[in-house]
Amino acid sequence: MQGTVIKNTGSWYVVRLDDGQLFQCKVKGNFRLKGIRSTNPVAVGDNVRIVPTEANAGQVGMITEILDRRNYIIRRASNLSKQSHILAANVDICLLVVTVNYPATSTTFIDRFLASAEAYRVPVVLVFNKVDLYNEAELALVSELEALYAKIGYRSIRTSATTGEGIDELKEIITGQISLLAGNSGVGKSSLVNAVSPETAARIGEISRIHNKGMHTTTYSEMFELMPGSYLVDTPGVKGFGTYDMEIEEIADYFLEIFECSKGCRFGNCTHIHEPGCAVLAAVESGDIALSRYSSYLSMIEEKKEGKYRA
Ligand code: GDP
Ligand code: ZN
Repeated sequence: MQGTVIKNTGSWYVVRLDDGQLFQCKVKGNFRLKGIRSTNPVAVGDNVRIVPTEANAGQVGMITEILDRRNYIIRRASNLSKQSHILAANVDICLLVVTVNYPATSTTFIDRFLASAEAYRVPVVLVFNKVDLYNEAELALVSELEALYAKIGYRSIRTSATTGEGIDELKEIITGQISLLAGNSGVGKSSLVNAVSPETAARIGEISRIHNKGMHTTTYSEMFELMPGSYLVDTPGVKGFGTYDMEIEEIADYFLEIFECSKGCRFGNCTHIHEPGCAVLAAVESGDIALSRYSSYLSMIEEKKEGKYRA
């Protein structure tokens, strides 16, 4: 039998079969995934094969196989640990909720997030929320950012969880998908879930209340059905997810327009910081690459270097 893992409590998994039946499962033996030392071999979103273990005791089974993952989001289990924790697998779309005010989301935050999402190979849609609150200048900033990111290839929508603006478009985007909602605290993630599905919002609220009492906070994750066939991954730690462990040389690859432009650099190993004949520096100069993007790129390189010196 085959299904999707929709919940991981740390000690067992809930697998939803394609016909809707739910099975409580353990993992058979010890999975070792290629190249990943993970605290959890199976993650929410995984497609798995199971065998039932108790004929009449209801839906209990054993996960025997994980099918190939389209992608997965992983973070280190802790700063000191070599082990990783897989937050979710097979995520179709990531909605990055952004507000230009109340509170303001920085372009550095957006760009780091986008770079990580590229590394994970998860498509992102930018969701500019709280548009009901913005004055003309703030709306102009939204337009500017929409244009900036559209040029790179990222889609944006405008929403208001309060007035309902853009919620239909949001629903359209997540229909039939496994999606993940990210963004700084206070930008309106919970409010958007509530606007899409009040029942789901209530369930998530209930579960996080239980967790705040100190249960399973690091290992627990769950996928909620927002609408039939549409799932939202909710797991501690996933909202910022900008901790993809990339090498310094890789960072440019995940800034799509920098990567594209770098093909014109004189040197193949150009870091786009000081080299002569750097096409990226020329593009920043001419305004073809946004200065905010280039700054974000530099800040990620700097941070990585500092980390290296410390280690
Ligand atoms: P989260 O931390 O990202 O989950 O943010 P919340 O959903 O808790 O929202 C934070 C605050 O912003 C709450 O007081 C919400 O009522 C408010 N809020 C969320 N979305 C909107 C919106 O679109 N318009 C307005 N005016 N307020 C919003
Ligand atoms: Zn260069």
